[in-house]
Amino acid sequence: MLGRLTTSLAPRLSPRLGACRAFSAGTDLFNPTEEHVQLRDMLRSFVEAEVEPQATEYNRAEKFNMPLFKKLGDLGLLGITVPEEYGGSGMDAVAAVIAHEELSSSDPAFCLSYLAHSMLFVNNLAQNGNEAQLQKYLPDVCSGACIGGMGMSEPGVGTDVLSMKTTAAKSADGSHYVLNGAKMWITNGAVSDTELGDRFLIYARTEGETGSPSGVSLFLVEKGFEGFKLGQKIMDKCGMRASMTAELVFEDVVVPAENLVGGEGGAVMCMMRNLEIERLVLAAMSLGIARRSLLVMSEYAQERVAFGHPLAHFGQMQRHISESYAEYMAGRSYVYNVAANLKLDSAGNRVDSDGVKLFCGDMGKRVADRAMQVLGGNGYVGEYNVERLWRDAKLLEIGGGTNESHHKNITRDLGKNPEQLRRL
Ligand SMILES: Cc1cc2nc3c(=O)[nH]c(=O)nc-3n(C[C@H](O)[C@H](O)[C@H](O)COP(=O)(O)OP(=O)(O)OC[C@H]3O[C@@H](n4cnc5c(N)ncnc54)[C@H](O)[C@@H]3O)c2cc1C
Repeated sequence: MLGRLTTSLAPRLSPRLGACRAFSAGTDLFNPTEEHVQLRDMLRSFVEAEVEPQATEYNRAEKFNMPLFKKLGDLGLLGITVPEEYGGSGMDAVAAVIAHEELSSSDPAFCLSYLAHSMLFVNNLAQNGNEAQLQKYLPDVCSGACIGGMGMSEPGVGTDVLSMKTTAAKSADGSHYVLNGAKMWITNGAVSDTELGDRFLIYARTEGETGSPSGVSLFLVEKGFEGFKLGQKIMDKCGMRASMTAELVFEDVVVPAENLVGGEGGAVMCMMRNLEIERLVLAAMSLGIARRSLLVMSEYAQERVAFGHPLAHFGQMQRHISESYAEYMAGRSYVYNVAANLKLDSAGNRVDSDGVKLFCGDMGKRVADRAMQVLGGNGYVGEYNVERLWRDAKLLEIGGGTNESHHKNITRDLGKNPEQLRRL
């Protein structure tokens, strides 16, 4: 029966099937163009020569490696998704994913600072700012002359972000806004123990009830604006210790009206657009952690001998390695597939940007955990790096949206749009 059906349909389907085969044979999902291949090669060389040698030292010292960060500007990575006319490299979401996977395979904390700068500030502004704002602010952040970050979370508000308390009151003549409040957990909020980062996109309430999307606006705030201060530099984090995290305080900060991004009350659209790429590249960071952990455990299991055999001989060790590989490849395929279809200038991929982060956050932590298990005592100390990767991996279940927020969003969005599932 199956044979007959296949035969009878064959003449109608064959031309299209032929085209599909030609497409899939020539396409590398993870490096779809020659530019992506070159980008990955360049990053691998840079990571090996410059990122890897400093990762353990900066993690231990809880210090941000500013000189190394500035080199990312020389390589064109800080404005990776920004048009060339503003100093960027004009690449796409796949390129952003490659950069985060490669940097994170060595130093996730350094990569987190890169993410906050290149995605949360630079890409956010590039997609949501007006022409004058792009011309004024983008060149210095693309070159690395200025370090950027983004403030959404507050001391009392994280997941429930629309309940933010920071306010921006418009002056009577409309020439400026006055910001009051505080932002918490801001990556690149500080660049040293005492120094603020340089440029920030800050979400604040301009009007309306707490919890109302129409009352939230986005502002460009610079170090040096009077009343803008470093509250506290947050020390002793579980992981991501070489990335600076800080509280930012706003006391009657005067922000010129031309620094309003995306129109008054328009910040939720800016937030949605940027959260999609943020979650995608956070998932890519988990891929980097998983790939490195897999490499370490696989090599170790070949070399270390117990009971007269390499560890790789034992079924329980094989399970750690094989399941890690399969889960890494599943996550990697999901991430690069979503990246290939993600449009940076619009929102509309929320289910899958939540989906990749939900899957990969957990996967990265699990694979790092298995690597520690395969290495035994050697996994529990710094030499093989997997304990650092394991600590760093935990953040990816919290930052940029907790696992529980992804459960909530995905279930709500699929419930609202059941067609999405029928179309799969
Ligand atoms: C190292 C680091 C860097 C960060 N960088 C930045 C940054 O650059 N910019 C920025 O704006 N923020 C940043 N954050 C903040 C981060 O995004 C928040 O920590 C995160 O969104 C969670 O918010 P919260 O910590 O306030 O937790 P809460 O929102 O208080 O959540 C606590 C727990 O309650 C759960 N919960 C809350 N609501 C629900 C619900 N409805 N249903 C079920 N469970 C729920 C959560 O999932 C979580 O498990 C960073 C955080 C860290 C730790």
